[in-house]
Amino acid sequence: MLERLGAPTREVRLPHDLEECDALVMPGGESTTMSKLLETSQLFDPIAKRIADGMPIFGTCAGMILLARDVLDGRDDQRSFDAIDIDVQRNAYGRQVDSFETDIVLQGHADLLHAVFIRAPRIVRMGSGVTALAEHQDSPVLVRSTNVMAASFHPELTDDDRVHRMFLDLVTTAHEK
Ligand code: GLN
Repeated sequence: MLERLGAPTREVRLPHDLEECDALVMPGGESTTMSKLLETSQLFDPIAKRIADGMPIFGTCAGMILLARDVLDGRDDQRSFDAIDIDVQRNAYGRQVDSFETDIVLQGHADLLHAVFIRAPRIVRMGSGVTALAEHQDSPVLVRSTNVMAASFHPELTDDDRVHRMFLDLVTTAHEK
């Protein structure tokens, strides 16, 4: 999706991969496993440092869990970056079979956004410095702070690229500073 929008991308699996990137997407998956892999690949600390230095980062679903401050219903040894002032509850919309798709209102856009939720986390607290860009069932599902964006759904699974455009805008703004 990002390549289609003209942003060159690469996978980040080891610390030296990160050095070549000026922004990062933390994808969906399983946040407990990703937390472990971030440790074993020795990526956790370098990513934390880059976020603190202002690198734009976009977390989707499990990626959002990893960027949150507090994680409810996580594993005890699960770590998160505390990169955006939200608390999330894992799997709060139900089990795998309760995964769902729905149309949501995207702030500043007249057309609805089709959003795919897969064992999605729910944002249960949001700090005052965080902006909600979309909501579903009275909870924010797309949020932004200075250099961090997070979605509880999977914007890469539809053809609608508006959420990725929002992230690229954030990347551009960060570089202009
Ligand atoms: N339920 C997963 C977790 O807790 C997230 C699912 C996803 O990324 N689609 O990490």
